[in-house]
Amino acid sequence: MTGLAEKLFTEHDLSDAELKALILTDDTAAENLLAERADEVRQKYYGKKVFLRGLIEMSSICRNDCYYCGIRRSNKNAERYRLTPDEIMECCDEGYKLGFRTFVMQGGEDAYYTDDVLCPIIGKIKGRYPDCAVTLSIGERSYESYERLKNAGADRYLLRHEAAADELYSKLHPDFMSLENRKRCLSDLKRLGYQVGAGFMVGAPYQTVEDIICDLRYMQELQPQMIGIGPFVPHRDTQFRDEKSGTAELTIRLLGIIRLMFPRVLLPATTALGTIAENGRERGLKTGCNVIMPNLSPAAVRRKYSLYDNKIYSGSEAAECCGEMRDLIARAGYEVSTERGDFVNTKEN
Ligand code: SAM
Repeated sequence: MTGLAEKLFTEHDLSDAELKALILTDDTAAENLLAERADEVRQKYYGKKVFLRGLIEMSSICRNDCYYCGIRRSNKNAERYRLTPDEIMECCDEGYKLGFRTFVMQGGEDAYYTDDVLCPIIGKIKGRYPDCAVTLSIGERSYESYERLKNAGADRYLLRHEAAADELYSKLHPDFMSLENRKRCLSDLKRLGYQVGAGFMVGAPYQTVEDIICDLRYMQELQPQMIGIGPFVPHRDTQFRDEKSGTAELTIRLLGIIRLMFPRVLLPATTALGTIAENGRERGLKTGCNVIMPNLSPAAVRRKYSLYDNKIYSGSEAAECCGEMRDLIARAGYEVSTERGDFVNTKEN
């Protein structure tokens, strides 16, 4: 099995059968080699740098109804909130002082945030902090909307494709949502020149290894600059409340595989990974991850952005505890970068 890790390291690709074997392996030597090679590749392009992204969870109001998500519209128990433009700006002011050079505005698909509302906010952030990148993660919109937001100054967009296999996508989402539209959004975003993030949950209900291979193949076509994967974690108010979480082991193996398939990609060690395993994010960093997204949202609303159970809200996750986050990164053997942390664009793969 170590041969497959080595082959992925040199060729950046494997056949479906080989990928399946590597994804499912329980061979510790192969896992160790995968982590070692993934780290070698991340260090080739990004050295020991870890980029921090200040996450502003701007709204828990969502018109969508993804079956796995705690803020889905039909969850009557979800506590809803929306940050005002001024509150978003205050998060950025605070984040800038803490050293963040990327602000990620993420939220449910909240109709309040029309282009007319968002564009001035983006313009204000870029005007006050021209050395910072603005990343949006506010779901599916029209080409025209993405274009207006880009023209207002947005640099990047995170939109996990969630599941590239039709059958799985439809088991995780209601009929009014479609994989076709999700993919349309991602290709529009790419066409408009955003740095784009795709991704999926690991261990989502019904997900098979073939589905995961389908996700990897889709991302090979799309060539996103960022890939967000984290374990599925059940939420008590969804129909998947009794499903098992994805495992840290599979998530970490996939992070290593992704780093070797997409050598220059920006790859976060996610909060969900830190939620299911105490040292999950450190292990992610040692297996190819180079991004951490601490929470910059006002403390009063953090608990309300409840996507899954037991999400870590404070301690090392909170931006105020930036020191702890730095310790976590140092413990893993890396260093916090104060750069914007854009995708490294070289011709070489
Ligand atoms: N509304 C935007 C969108 O759809 O891209 C951004 C917000 S959405 C809540 C952010 C991500 O949370 C989703 O892409 C999904 O993969 C993840 N997520 C939602 N529920 C989750 C769960 N139960 N376990 C793990 N991740 C979850």
